[in-house]
Amino acid sequence: MTGVRVMQPVGGPIVGVPNVPGSKSQTNRALLCAALAEGTSRLSGVLFAEDTEAMLDAVVSLGAEIEVDRENTSLEVKGIGGDLNFEDIAIDCRSSGTTSRFLLPVLVAGKGNVAIDGSDQLRSRPFDEQIKALRALDCILNETGAPGRLPIEVVADGVNGGKVEISGAASSQFISGLLLAAPLYAEGLTIELTDTPVSRPYLDLTVKVMNDFGIAVEQPNESTYVVKQGQYSPSDTEIEPDASAASYFFAAAAITQGKVKVDGLHRESCQGDTQFVDVLEKLGAKVTWGTNSIEVEGNQLDGGTFDLRDLSDTAQTLASVAAFAESEIEIKGIGFIRTKETDRIAAIVSELTKCGVEVTETSDGVIIKPDKWKLKGASIDTYDDHRVAMAMSLLGLRVPHIEIRNPGCVAKTFPDFFSVLEKLRPTAIPLTEALAVAAIDGPAGSGKSTVARALAVELNLPHFDTGAMYRAVAVAALRQQVDASDPAAIAALAKTVDIRISERTIVDGVDATEEIRSADANHLVSVVAANPDVRRILVPRQRQWATELGGGVMEGRDIGTEVFPDAIFKVFLTADLQVRAERRFQETAGQTLDDVLQDLKRRDHVDSTRDDSPLEVAPGSVIFDTSNMSVEAVVAELAEMFRLRVEG
Ligand code: C5P
Repeated sequence: MTGVRVMQPVGGPIVGVPNVPGSKSQTNRALLCAALAEGTSRLSGVLFAEDTEAMLDAVVSLGAEIEVDRENTSLEVKGIGGDLNFEDIAIDCRSSGTTSRFLLPVLVAGKGNVAIDGSDQLRSRPFDEQIKALRALDCILNETGAPGRLPIEVVADGVNGGKVEISGAASSQFISGLLLAAPLYAEGLTIELTDTPVSRPYLDLTVKVMNDFGIAVEQPNESTYVVKQGQYSPSDTEIEPDASAASYFFAAAAITQGKVKVDGLHRESCQGDTQFVDVLEKLGAKVTWGTNSIEVEGNQLDGGTFDLRDLSDTAQTLASVAAFAESEIEIKGIGFIRTKETDRIAAIVSELTKCGVEVTETSDGVIIKPDKWKLKGASIDTYDDHRVAMAMSLLGLRVPHIEIRNPGCVAKTFPDFFSVLEKLRPTAIPLTEALAVAAIDGPAGSGKSTVARALAVELNLPHFDTGAMYRAVAVAALRQQVDASDPAAIAALAKTVDIRISERTIVDGVDATEEIRSADANHLVSVVAANPDVRRILVPRQRQWATELGGGVMEGRDIGTEVFPDAIFKVFLTADLQVRAERRFQETAGQTLDDVLQDLKRRDHVDSTRDDSPLEVAPGSVIFDTSNMSVEAVVAELAEMFRLRVEG
């Protein structure tokens, strides 16, 4: 598979009720139980994706008869009952970990020679723990490739069962496989866990599905499972929507100030990954649990430390969310995801780093130190891992130029992922319902003024340079020699000064177009702008200005956060500090490049740390790094994004 998908930033909130496909984990468990049952089962809400197709084909080769209704996502499975004669079958598990690890303990319980294999990716994943446990039960297994890996030849002659010890530190799938196969063993099976297993909720899911198909599982204590020999009975089962798949949409709502509801998930849901919304809630998102739905609404996202041992399939989702958080996020308890479809910790580090995020690998996870000013587009390698593709596409909702390589790898668990995501793209807003304000914020030298001016021309809208207002007050203070360290005096000036901004900037009747850009004005303006009383006077004037003219392209530092937080389109323009300094250097006479750079650093610091309306990335805004781009290209892309937000 090849190809590239260039993500288009949404420029507004992700809102809707996505159609999340059925749970892969529940589908593959239910399929196997139904195949082993005596009689016909009906499964609805089934996932059709590569991993479940692998299980489907496998159970057909075991002898199950299946009627497939893809349109209605349902299956009718006539099970094989006690007929476990698997002579001379070869099973290709493709890249499906669950299929291979659930089937191996089942195959040994039959009779005959069986070969089990998978893709190169699956061949590189570990099977040691399960092989060891099965050998301890006197099963004959031969690895025909690398030791502890697929392909494996099974010389099956039934299993007596009894008792077995196994570690759950690498994957709970090994234990789930033994549990699912246990009723087929002559004496049943007692499984003793030698340590605390990872992903415990998946074991609970296995037990639940076995119960659904008539098999009891006793758990006398935390580390023991007891299953008696028995026969699976058929069941009509409704598969829940996949909670891991839902995590991408909940995250999309969280980072775009949107609102997403997933029907069919609830507090009693059998999937541990529903706990992902608790993580989002702790970060600051609003979460509403319905009787049969979960809704997540975006909000400012803080940081924190999260142990995702029980819900590791959402670790990559959280890592992408972390790129937009206000402070550090540590994800721990997930060292074992290094042996999933790819080394997922390495993938988080390399791909987020490409996008300008600071990520440090720890022994059992990652620490992400977000700095939204540094986010930038990148070409994302997906390592044939569906979760890398889906999680990293979240960055593309707010950062232009994120391209996902080999996007088709999502077919492993969610073939329609991108089209379902597209359906949640915000719809255009009629201008009768909203003011056509494009809020453009960003630090000095990010290209804001030039871009905003050109964008206004392109969109045929008024242009408002709010920085010029603060500069005008600074000029008035310089002219009247008002003491800059006297906040009350500066505020009094802001109240009385007459500012007119159009082609030229006129301060108290005198043209100040050049004066407002002088080095002295540059120096004083941050102090003026950090004065809360000055802002209290100027911000309402800015709102009035745009409202009277029916909207416009408004540039500044706090347009998306303070002046028009509900603007229909919000952008934060950024660029490398060095690039910004070079841009400013071209425009300023009499200063060295280093002077300009130091001055920019100082202004960035004052603007972003002041108490009142600090310069920060507005929630949900598009974060656009302009470092390597021409003004024309930036304007063209912004115009396109804006037009998608406005109807008519
Ligand atoms: O955009 P410009 O560099 O002309 O803005 C000058 C200064 O005015 C900024 O450094 C910032 O301190 C302040 N400013 C602000 N809020 C705005 C626009 C500008 O605080 N909305």
